[in-house]
This record gives sequence, structure tokens and C-alpha cells, in this order.
Amino acid sequence: MVWEQRWHPLREEWIIVAAHRQDRPWIGDTVRQPQTQLPPYDPNCYFCPGNIRVSGEQNPDYKQTFVFDNDHACVSFDAPNVPELTDSIYKRKPARGIARVVCYSPRHDLTLAELETSEIITLLKVWQQQYLELGAHPEINHVLIFENKGEVVGVSNPHPHCQIYATNFIFKYIETEARVCERHFADTGRILFQDILRTEKEDGRRIICENETVIAFMPYFARYAYEVFVAPKKTHPHLAALSNDELNDLADILQQILIKFDNLWQMPFPYVMALHQAPTDGEKYDNFHFHIEFHPPLRKPNLLKYLAGPEIGGGNFLSDTSPEEKAKELKRLPTLHYKLQN
Ligand SMILES: [Zn+2]
Ligand SMILES: [Zn+2]
Repeated sequence: MVWEQRWHPLREEWIIVAAHRQDRPWIGDTVRQPQTQLPPYDPNCYFCPGNIRVSGEQNPDYKQTFVFDNDHACVSFDAPNVPELTDSIYKRKPARGIARVVCYSPRHDLTLAELETSEIITLLKVWQQQYLELGAHPEINHVLIFENKGEVVGVSNPHPHCQIYATNFIFKYIETEARVCERHFADTGRILFQDILRTEKEDGRRIICENETVIAFMPYFARYAYEVFVAPKKTHPHLAALSNDELNDLADILQQILIKFDNLWQMPFPYVMALHQAPTDGEKYDNFHFHIEFHPPLRKPNLLKYLAGPEIGGGNFLSDTSPEEKAKELKRLPTLHYKLQN
């Protein structure tokens, strides 16, 4: 039984791990899983090739990936140029930036887990290019690439896609990570994420899979039951700094993790995936270690991890599961997708 507090060194907060609570009786709602078979093409989908979007624009007849500016942008260079508030404790600034959508595939019915390795490599190259292109803009200080997958995280359109928020501010978790990485280096002369990788390797129980240059593990300080970090073993501040060999290795490990997720309960596995890359505000981030974080909201096939008193009210996570046990579950799963198993 794990019943203790664990320190999250990248977020600077405590996680309460109370694994004995996982099997407590539950009489609340459970999550229904959509079991409908999707068509490869949906004439009503805004992302499918050839369809007209709300903006009136027509999607090209794309064959691999498709990038376009989000029709419902949360940040834009068209946002009102609000003046600063003076003589006030309240502050404001314009919501400036660029929001984009990246469709992974022309196929409406596929998910990232079902793409070929070569298609994942193509997508990684699109992400590299987007980070460099958007990050080069003088007003853009950070590029957040993320995917919300599944209805339980609020995705209305199942067409496989991610979003990019390139903003004039640095997202909070990235800002914290960048700050603690710099401080750790100043204090110890070491890179924090390398210390995490070394500690995970010494323990070994939470490593799910690895190849020559990339590793996937459930961190000691995981907040969600099936939280997984995927990272290159060498420190690179962003995805675009990876070599071609590292990119191929990253596609391999990403694919293994995504398939294991789907195989866990033989269903498309919902998650929030975020690429943690160095800010693009012109500062140096040599000690920032690019990684991908998966935050899956389910702790059982039909049971959501609800964020409530401790998380929303107090600001610290209460985890009902032991990362060592959950990593073991993922580790033993096959890397052939269940839809391809007989
Ligand atoms: Zn579609
Ligand atoms: Zn991170």
C-alpha cells in the first residue's frame, strides 16, 4: 500500500498518494463509452478533406496532415488592443497570438494510436516546423501544442487532430518548469530532468518502455492514474532540436504508449497530451528538457478522476492509485493494437 505525499519537482507541489482509496464504493455516475463505428469520411465534419468550415473556407483534398488557423481562436492578432490599466491592482493585456489546428490524417475514423509509424514521424515534423515558425514571431513567447482526446475531455469532433496555442504569454506550467530547471542548474550544476531520468532508471519500476534515445515512464510524482511522460534521453529544449534518429525513436515510443493506452481497456483511451517545450521569448533555455506529458482523466474504464476539493479547492492533487502498480499494468500490455489482434 502506498499512502504518503510525494513532491512534484517540476510543478513544485505535493501530491497526496492514497492508493488504498482506489476500490472505495462508488454510487455516482460512470462514463459511457461511445461504441459507434465512425465512417472514414464524414460530410458534416469541419476537418475532413474537401469540406467547408464555419469560416466559409474549403479544406483542401489533403492526403497526410493539414494545418489551418483555428476558426474559433482564443488568441489572435485581431484581438482588441486593450490599453493597460493604470493605478489598479488589476492588470490586463491583449489576447494576442495565433491558434491553429493540425489534422493528423484525412481519415475521420482513425486516432493517433492507429496511425503508421511513418505517419507519426510526418506529424512530428509538422510539430517541429510549427514550433519554429510560430516561435520566430517576435510577439509569440510560447508555443503550446496539445491534443484533447475523447468526449470526457470535451472533444466534440472525433476527427484526429491537435491544437496549437502560440501566445504572447508563457503558459503557467511551462513557466514554472523553466524557472525550477534554471534554479536547479544554478544550485547543483545538473539538469533537473536528467536527475529525474536517472532516478527513474535507478528505481526501474515505473519505466514502461524505451529504445536507444527515447524513454516512457510514469513519474514517481504522477497526479493521474495513468499519467505518462515520453522524453528523449538527451536534453533538448524543444522538439525541433531532435536529430532524425531521435525523431524516429520518439515516434516508436509514442506509438507504443498510445497502443498500450488503447489496449488497456480495449477502447479509444481519452487523454490530454501536451508537448512541454521551451518558451520562445528570446531567453536561453539550455536546461529545459523537452518532453510530452499524457494526462488521462479515467482511473477505471468508466470512472473519471474527478477534480474536486483537494484539486480545485486546495490546489493539490489527491491520487487514488500507486504509480508503481499502474506502470506495471501498462508495461505488460502488448504493442499490437487491439483492433489488429485476432
Ligand atoms: Zn472528419
Ligand atoms: Zn512538463
